[in-house]
Amino acid sequence: MRMLKNNLGYPRVGDNRQLKKACEQYWAGTISRDELHQTAWKLRETSLKLQQEAGIDLIPCNDFSFYDHVLDMSLMLGAIPKRYSSILTAVKGNAEIDLYFAMARGYQKDGLDIPAMEMTKWFDTNYHFIVPEFTVDQEFKLFSEKAFAEFTSAKQILGSNPKPVLTGPVTYLLLGKEKSNDENAPIAFNRIDLIKKLVPVYVEIINTFKSYGAEWIQMDEPYLSLDLSEVEKQAFQYAYEEISKKCNGIKILLTSYFESLGDNTALALHLPVAAVHIDLVRSAEQLNEVLKYTPPTLTLSLGVVDGRNIWKNDYVKALYHIQKAVAVLGSERIMIAASCSLLHSPCDLDLETTLNPVIKNWMAFARQKLDEISDLYEIANGKNELLSQNILALESRKSSSLIHRKDVKERLDAISEKDATRNSVFSERQQIQKKRFNLPFFPTTTIGSFPQTADIRQLRAKLKKGSISLADYDLAIESATLESIHWQEEIDIDVLVHGEFERNDMVEYFGEMLQGFVFTRNGWVQSYGSRCVKPPVIFGDIKREKDLTVRWSKFAQEHTNKPMKGMLTGPITILQWSFVRNDQPRSETAFQLALAIRDEVLALENAGISIIQIDEPAIREGLPLRKNQRATYLDWAIKAFRISASGVKDETQIHTHMCYSEFNDIIENIAEMDADVITIETSRSQMELLDAFIDFNYPNEIGPGVYDIHSPRIPSVQEMVQLLEKAAISIPIRNLWVNPDCGLKTRNWPETKQALLNMVQAAKQMRTKA
Ligand code: GLN
Ligand code: ZN
Repeated sequence: MRMLKNNLGYPRVGDNRQLKKACEQYWAGTISRDELHQTAWKLRETSLKLQQEAGIDLIPCNDFSFYDHVLDMSLMLGAIPKRYSSILTAVKGNAEIDLYFAMARGYQKDGLDIPAMEMTKWFDTNYHFIVPEFTVDQEFKLFSEKAFAEFTSAKQILGSNPKPVLTGPVTYLLLGKEKSNDENAPIAFNRIDLIKKLVPVYVEIINTFKSYGAEWIQMDEPYLSLDLSEVEKQAFQYAYEEISKKCNGIKILLTSYFESLGDNTALALHLPVAAVHIDLVRSAEQLNEVLKYTPPTLTLSLGVVDGRNIWKNDYVKALYHIQKAVAVLGSERIMIAASCSLLHSPCDLDLETTLNPVIKNWMAFARQKLDEISDLYEIANGKNELLSQNILALESRKSSSLIHRKDVKERLDAISEKDATRNSVFSERQQIQKKRFNLPFFPTTTIGSFPQTADIRQLRAKLKKGSISLADYDLAIESATLESIHWQEEIDIDVLVHGEFERNDMVEYFGEMLQGFVFTRNGWVQSYGSRCVKPPVIFGDIKREKDLTVRWSKFAQEHTNKPMKGMLTGPITILQWSFVRNDQPRSETAFQLALAIRDEVLALENAGISIIQIDEPAIREGLPLRKNQRATYLDWAIKAFRISASGVKDETQIHTHMCYSEFNDIIENIAEMDADVITIETSRSQMELLDAFIDFNYPNEIGPGVYDIHSPRIPSVQEMVQLLEKAAISIPIRNLWVNPDCGLKTRNWPETKQALLNMVQAAKQMRTKA
């Protein structure tokens, strides 16, 4: 069978985060532009060769990016916001890459102070892209030639034609935002209407690639997997018809991923392109429908290898899909591929030298996924020993006692509605709690973490290396905690926190103490720019076998008479920020986590902690891309939170915290969480995000953030009073709290101290008026 082996994209940071390090050094001025480019060149060379060695036929290029591929696209299309025009001229010897980094990170040099472009999450991943900005008079013209240079060098390295990857025109527009030329003028256009201006530049780009020898071009259009309006569907039609008319002799591979094509199936399959890619990991069900409507000349790229998770492929399942498609279309019209770009996978499992070998044998990272694409091809062509190895590995996982815990499963089965419901309704709890805590109006608190200074981080590094003892480490953490308690008392905060000095990360810390998790040493995945995350791996049934946080909360509470808030990460956030099991529904893993957190909540209550915060910043980002799947998700996600929170007595106050979130369409569900207090991020939006709560008549207590912790700026008392006044107009005063937007771990102490001092003063001013 002759099928093409197709890869949509490869991790760009490097197996040792080389790109991260080089970029950061370049920004710090310690390496030259040439050195940065050399590192990038080497990384590209390595990954191209890896893919070639793995036998991939369609090897991507231009999937590399110094910061973000959507920003690359903006630069290529000349969609450069006007505020950056001074940069190219202002700094002598400035190069394109400096303009590029300025757009990504802002520019504060040479008397210029230009803010960065906005950044947001790439669909439902933890990768962040730079949001394109469009004005009503937006023009596009070919600007950056980076993609062509990468094509040429890749061709040289490979000795054959790579496949350039572009973000497709419709997705590119939809990812962006309309901006007004004049801040006060309303925005009176829809960015999708720019399609006619945009497509000619794509035509030029594609034809240029063709002149360099390209045979295939990959156009990423993940919006094909989302709900589309009529106008957006027409834009797809228009764009690809134009491209097909004006770009002869080049094959377009149109990709969808992260969801099924759903009601866009007919649209996508009938666009005049050579091949369409579908994600069969997220949605295997779509294959029948897609096969039914595939026109006679279209090639189908089958995304059967999971680009988003770290588990070894189930070859039997993948082959079933491949063979089904081959039976209908014939092998020459089939490509075998990963579900999406491997950007979302860590680089190389071989670098994990300390993982339990049994568990390691169930996993595959990007490099191994290339081999899987290749293996599937070989097996389809009769190389059966590869199949039997795979079946053995998967069997060992299915039955492993490392994974399956009977007691956990039994407990899960026994969960009842009662477990997910507090004893009394909020109005009754509120009375009991008001009496118990006797807090002033506008009570002040913080979100949990205090500055993780270099000292604190070094302590942890030393402990890991073994150069200090656990006892010494604990002593040092205790002293940092005590210091922060005294200081909070001094400035008169009402509900204290212990500061989270003992935590490396709000998910890792919990995962490390729960059964069912493993940690990689090098499993980094790009999150944004040079920032990478190393998600924990949930491989088995989750069980809490010991206290997670009690020691620190108890210690802290013993050193103050004020309430000390216990601090936990919620089940959905742990789920969202980990690689999760694919052998059971996400909901089941969420409930297991919920039970573990529930037990910790009860242990804290038992230890005398009267206020417990369960952070759930990731609830919103877990929302499925397709609207028709959201209710189901919200049902189990909210239930998981409620299970974690509902074991306590009425007098115990449950807080939750959600960071920055659009609450409008989920406010009803947020209310269903029934936390006694919710704190959210509102200061940047001037309390606008509070509107959803106001419109909904949100019944419980709420702390709208008054201090933007993402910036080193110290807000004045006056500023915070104004924000609180704004909130107090629409939220009953008895329900209002005063707090920063989020945790303070990324800030330094001098800023934090001054800002919180001001915050307490602001609350006190409000009290005199109440
Ligand atoms: N309690 C955590 C902290 O303060 C919350 C962090 C978050 O919301 N992302 O750091
Ligand atoms: Zn937060």
